[in-house]
Amino acid sequence: MRVLLTGAAGFLGSHLTDRLLAEGHEVLGVDNFLTGQRENLAHLAHEPRFTLYEHDVAQPWPDWGPVDAVLHFASPASPNAASPYGYPNLPIETMLTNAQGTYHGLEYARRYGARFLLASTSEVYGDPQVHPQPESYWGYVNPVGPRAVYDEAKRYAEAMTMAYHRRYGLDTRIARIFNTYGPRMRLDDGRVIPNFILQALQRQPLTIYGDGSQTRSFCYVDDLIEGIVRLLHVARAPYPVNLGNPDEYTILELAQVINRLLDNPGGLKFEAERYLEGDPKRRRPDIRRAQKLLGWTPRVPLEEGLHRTIADFRQRLSASSSSDALPERA
Ligand code: NAD
Ligand code: UDP
Repeated sequence: MRVLLTGAAGFLGSHLTDRLLAEGHEVLGVDNFLTGQRENLAHLAHEPRFTLYEHDVAQPWPDWGPVDAVLHFASPASPNAASPYGYPNLPIETMLTNAQGTYHGLEYARRYGARFLLASTSEVYGDPQVHPQPESYWGYVNPVGPRAVYDEAKRYAEAMTMAYHRRYGLDTRIARIFNTYGPRMRLDDGRVIPNFILQALQRQPLTIYGDGSQTRSFCYVDDLIEGIVRLLHVARAPYPVNLGNPDEYTILELAQVINRLLDNPGGLKFEAERYLEGDPKRRRPDIRRAQKLLGWTPRVPLEEGLHRTIADFRQRLSASSSSDALPERA
């Protein structure tokens, strides 16, 4: 297959690139490095089946030639306003990448009769009133709240994808991805696992927004990529599919696990004021559709995934100038 992948320099995009290349496919990566990192793709500098195009997908796309599939993964993904890479600081870029970027991707797929796969999100469920969340749930989203630029843009992207499927019979797939973590996340991404690992490695208290009773269900990146690849290859999947690990933790529990794994004496710091309106109180995927359609179930338990992520964070930190401040063992 010749696959066009937007967001290839990002966390998920770079892992997906590696997986597609390992399967023997050719990958055309497109990225403008808004939140991605060049080093995520540095190991592919001499890979003949990989080409990287620097382009903003919200702008009209050049013709990169025929492809068999378009995978749209470009988009800021962190909700944390404290990070320069958080979508509250990139509001228009986030809206346009998911709106215009999806439109251009769908047009590109239509032109070449390619399959189209959208990286959507559990955020389409907003602050869910149904728990766990099945794909049939329509969500509870504030269209003018602080998370709207992401949530509503992804909802628009899903609607646009279905419009192309219904009007043109385009072969489309929608992955509703739940919180995924692993190596290559930006250290300064602002999402909870990078924040907590970084704080624990630096012997600081872990910052808990609110009282820590809100829950998330964390999926290790290798499991997620396996689900995406199965969704790409399955014969037909026009409707959204939840991909995530149903193992649910409170944020307080997550903090305690990370402090224990890293022997962090720094403890916890509660920052009630940073728990913003619309921050989902509970989130857990109902993955029965993915299990039935794709024969997929996540395998990597939280502590195992955290160990692998911590090893990667340590390595990157020790390669940077701040290495002196780091503890010796995990
Ligand atoms: P990321 O920030 O690491 O990757 C996003 C990539 O898209 C970056 O390389 C960035 O530079 C690129 N990009 C952004 N805007 C662009 C534009 N206009 N043109 C070209 N490239 C652009 O984030 P991620 O966690 O890898 O997320 C990837 C996708 O998966 C996103 O669409 C995100 O919404 C979705 N998703 C991720 C998660 C998760 O837990 N990681 C959960 C739900 C959905
Ligand atoms: N969070 C936290 N401390 C941090 C970063 C995040 O307590 O340093 C909380 C955040 O308020 C949310 C949860 O952790 O309730 C998950 O946040 P994240 O940004 O990882 O992703 P979300 O699932 O909210 O998109």
